[in-house]
Amino acid sequence: MNSVFVKAVPILETLQEYGFKAYFVGGAVRDMLLHRPIHDIDIATSASPQEVVGLFKNVIPVGIEHGTVVVHEKGVSYEVTTFRKETEYEDFRHPSSIEFVDDLGEDLQRRDFTINALAMTVDGDIIDLYNGIDDLTNRTIRAVGDPAERFYEDPLRMLRAVRFVSQLNFKLDEPTEQEIRRLASHLSHLSIERIAQEWEKLMLGSAREKGIELFISTGLYEYVPHFVTYKNGLLSLKELPIHQLYHVREMWALLTYLCQVPAKMILKAWKQPSLLIKEVEIIQQTLEHLKQNNWDDYQLFKTGVELAKSIEAVRSILYKENAAENIENIVKKYNALPIKDKKELSVNGHDVMKWKNKKAGPWLGKELQMIEQAVIDKKVKNEKNAIKEWVDRCNSQ
Ligand code: ATP
Ligand code: MG
Repeated sequence: MNSVFVKAVPILETLQEYGFKAYFVGGAVRDMLLHRPIHDIDIATSASPQEVVGLFKNVIPVGIEHGTVVVHEKGVSYEVTTFRKETEYEDFRHPSSIEFVDDLGEDLQRRDFTINALAMTVDGDIIDLYNGIDDLTNRTIRAVGDPAERFYEDPLRMLRAVRFVSQLNFKLDEPTEQEIRRLASHLSHLSIERIAQEWEKLMLGSAREKGIELFISTGLYEYVPHFVTYKNGLLSLKELPIHQLYHVREMWALLTYLCQVPAKMILKAWKQPSLLIKEVEIIQQTLEHLKQNNWDDYQLFKTGVELAKSIEAVRSILYKENAAENIENIVKKYNALPIKDKKELSVNGHDVMKWKNKKAGPWLGKELQMIEQAVIDKKVKNEKNAIKEWVDRCNSQ
């Protein structure tokens, strides 16, 4: 058994010692069989959430009403979820009620795709009630049971299907795809937070061109905020070598650039975090600026190296240039800056106030910024005396 599972074996053993059933389930089992990196391990058990809380020392009852308890074991967190049945989703967001069951089979039946409905015992035996292994071998995403029923229960599964195509480079099983086409409009019932989570994974998948193609051809794109209006931008996205981008901010920046729409407008509607919105806006504005100008040192200093790398990655795709080379060049240019951070300036506000014999005020910020820019533009060395001389000289002019 893979060592990441071995670490979690004590949790299964504890549950079993107390007479409960316990298995590894879901994405981790799938990823192990695909020899992909395993990130989080989910455990399914017949123990109720309260029983799980009672059995372990280090627990967080994160989603106790949905049956999930996080158990910490040797510095790793595991989601331990009580076996449950599929229940109606009242408002397409939360199930109207939760019914816990004693049987793994019923729990696996409520899972979305056959490849996600695999379980593994503590001894490493695979339980495959829905031919998930065949689908892993044939690289197929197939709904567990009747796809239409499953998509009515939770329309997010349609988007998840396409995101798994993008992440795993699988194909959709024909009836599963047909039902997505037919029921795509049901996506509009979902909260944007749930949609955005899947879309982000879709955008970064190793077969994202294929994923985006399906996202368009199945009609799903029509039922997420703003994408209908900007279909052409979305279409051009999949024509570009987008697999070269590694960060979600880069994908959003490229998309909003191609759509010629202010990033803020789309990303706000998608309820994205304000830091991400800010970063995408900076990338977008810098791309515009770089149409007519080259990077200047002060701008690079202000932007920071990580964002500058993202800008170069996106710009290289747009202009069909070598991204690795452009990124390497911008990093070199950044490394050559005399300072990387305000704090590295060898003078501070107190020094400048003393030199000028003036109290703090709005002038001080401006003065410090001038000094910072002069240092970066290599007009003056980053040394106290040199800066003082330079300031005196500026004042006497
Ligand atoms: P990832 O590698 O991205 O975490 P995952 O398959 O583990 O992929 P999760 O969202 O972590 O996806 O869900 C864990 C498991 O829970 C899935 O493998 C699947 O069995 C089940 N599951 C998750 N979301 C749904 C859903 N909307 N409908 C049915 N089953 C779901
Ligand atoms: Mg997971």
